[in-house]
Amino acid sequence: MYADILDEAAAREQQLIEVALANRKAPEPPSPVCRNADCGEPSQPGTSYCCPECREDDERWQRAIQQRRVA
Ligand SMILES: [Zn+2]
Repeated sequence: MYADILDEAAAREQQLIEVALANRKAPEPPSPVCRNADCGEPSQPGTSYCCPECREDDERWQRAIQQRRVA
């Protein structure tokens, strides 16, 4: 009886963890090549851009695209 309650609690907790994991949006993996337009340079390790300037350029570009989509 007591063991059953413990098992049930553990099962419910496991279910909550699985739901939380399923709902969490997977982060986009860093691109091995600079994402800035047609830059084509290899990215800095752990990032999606070869340099801070490219990152700023691309972020500005992405923002412009999103604003165009909304408008
Ligand atoms: Zn670049």
